Amino acid sequence: MRIEHVEAINLLHRYPEEHRFQYGGGICDARLTTLIVVHTECGAVGVGSVYSYPALVYLVVREQLASVLIGEDPTEVEALWEKMYALTRWYGRKGAAFSAIGGVDTALWDLRGQAEGKPVWALLGGETDRCPAYASGLLWKDDVKELADEASGYIDAGFRRVKMRLARSEAYDKAAVEAVRRAVGAENDVIVDASMRYHLDLARRMGDFLAEQGVFWYEEPFAPENIDDFVSLRGTVDVPLAAGENEFGLQGFRELVRARAVDIVQPDACRCGGISEVWKVGRLAAEHGIRFATHSWSDAVAILANAHVVSAMPNGLTVEIDRMNNPFVDELLGRPLEVVDGEIALGDAPGLGIELNGEVVEKCRLADPLHIPDGVYSDMMFGRENLPRALPYLEGEGKV
Ligand SMILES: [Mg+2]
Repeated sequence: MRIEHVEAINLLHRYPEEHRFQYGGGICDARLTTLIVVHTECGAVGVGSVYSYPALVYLVVREQLASVLIGEDPTEVEALWEKMYALTRWYGRKGAAFSAIGGVDTALWDLRGQAEGKPVWALLGGETDRCPAYASGLLWKDDVKELADEASGYIDAGFRRVKMRLARSEAYDKAAVEAVRRAVGAENDVIVDASMRYHLDLARRMGDFLAEQGVFWYEEPFAPENIDDFVSLRGTVDVPLAAGENEFGLQGFRELVRARAVDIVQPDACRCGGISEVWKVGRLAAEHGIRFATHSWSDAVAILANAHVVSAMPNGLTVEIDRMNNPFVDELLGRPLEVVDGEIALGDAPGLGIELNGEVVEKCRLADPLHIPDGVYSDMMFGRENLPRALPYLEGEGKV
């Protein structure tokens, strides 16, 4: 098996008015992701994905990574990863280039599985095709009753854990958690994401409240650069701290783990270096008695890549499934993800078992992969009118 060519396909979906959602970054009106498709001379195709600045990813793949990949054996995953990293290290230790390597790495794992006739979870030593999954949504609503309805809907749809977004105001955050906790009941889990908008004193107050509410984990109260506050907070509140969606590679997670900054690490194959790096991060975490729960907010390929690793490892906790009407999650696969009693089934198909829906790919493919139209894309913004504005956070008791 030899690599013939490598494609990076940038996808964009503009939300219809009724699907836009409000969060700390404003009103999200569109979504982006990048598919990596590795074609081989024998016709086998491997698929990965990248969630970063799509134009940069496209350039890195086309101008640099493709040159070391073409003609090589795709099952030599580790050797090819090292070659790609050596090429991009000068500018790419963290960020778009590193994520691009990860997209290729995931596609190579898909091909390695196909070559060996085994699913990736089995290649990684897993014994089951099941993987726990949680519903990720519950963005800001003007009435917390709407949050309660949304949360109940996820439980009715087969989820046993839900994640909600906080960091609007102290009064809103508390009312929102209470509403969702009541809606899902004590037998299901509530996860909260503070979107990096707390300071240490507020994070402690909220941590005590979240512990009372029995919250399953408390995600990113602080920005990723602020490891010291994570360290100060951890152990002073009785709720597990989680972070990692903004971290890259084993090297980055080593900093988090060595500092004892978090209880749960959140690598993401489409950001942190591919299946290879999620697996290494999972093993590092296990050595330190830490669990991992992968992040995902881009597409179903990334969810599957993450799920194969989570299901294969004893400290793999759960994967995240974006429930915000994202067609790259709901429609990109020929066989959509299905959650039954809080789990997805990965099946026994060789590799990642991905069959892309070609219609969705063509409908959403960016005509010019190097130009991203203006918009608020949840984690990225383009266009002067969409520059991030620091929305005020209202502390203390007060109006929700
Ligand atoms: Mg998050």
